[in-house]
Amino acid sequence: RLSLDGVTVNFGARAVSAVQDVSLTIGAGEFVALLGPSGCGKSTLLNVMAGFCTPVQGRVLLDGEPLTGPSAKCGVVFQKHSLFPWMTALDNVAFGPRRLGLTNARQIAQDLLDIVGLAHVANEWPASLSGGMQQRVGIARALATRPPVLLMDEPFGALDAQTRSLMQEELLSIWDKLRPTVVFVTHDIEEAIFLADRVVVMQTYPGRIAREFAIDIPRPRSAEVLNDHAFIE
Ligand code: ATP
Ligand code: MG
Repeated sequence: RLSLDGVTVNFGARAVSAVQDVSLTIGAGEFVALLGPSGCGKSTLLNVMAGFCTPVQGRVLLDGEPLTGPSAKCGVVFQKHSLFPWMTALDNVAFGPRRLGLTNARQIAQDLLDIVGLAHVANEWPASLSGGMQQRVGIARALATRPPVLLMDEPFGALDAQTRSLMQEELLSIWDKLRPTVVFVTHDIEEAIFLADRVVVMQTYPGRIAREFAIDIPRPRSAEVLNDHAFIE
């Protein structure tokens, strides 16, 4: 369970807060999509949840404990690729499991690269991969330690429609198996409705929650089923 309580984030001398007084509780195993226009504070809020950014007001509780910095319970996929450039794709993914002392770290990494369709570039450097490929390595890396909380910042943003759709299916199947708590940032309302249990919509200047709604359509959700629901006004 992850909860934000009156979180406000200011950057520098800006008159308007990047995120203002946001309260949000996300239940264990819940899949929440965080939606909103560019600049509304989605990444900032995710960074707060990940413990990378400390709010000027309010607090974050992870399983009832105040968050004081990055937690091993959270796997994070960043909006911009953030692979270690000096490690191969495989070593990037194996990094977390190795740090946990898992002897099968290499196998875990290989399996995950296979799931994201990148087994064939396991030994390549990040710089030699396309943006979308790096993004998928980043997803594999975030999943490698099987974190109970998964924070994903526009993870499928740089992917073509077909790869994106495959990755959505993979993410849902992983979520179904491991039931992590997921916060998934996206610009795409259709993607949000396809994936999430609940959609939280932010507004900008200042970044606040504008509205939220539950998606109570059972999974798997086909395009036809979604079209029958008039979510998009
Ligand atoms: P996008 O959809 O474009 O990724 P976003 O919703 O993720 O946008 P944020 O990146 O959270 O938006 O930015 C929210 C606001 O905070 C913006 O006004 C941005 O300029 C500001 N901001 C974000 N990071 C910083 C920073 N490191 N320093 C100064 N201002 C920042
Ligand atoms: Mg962002």
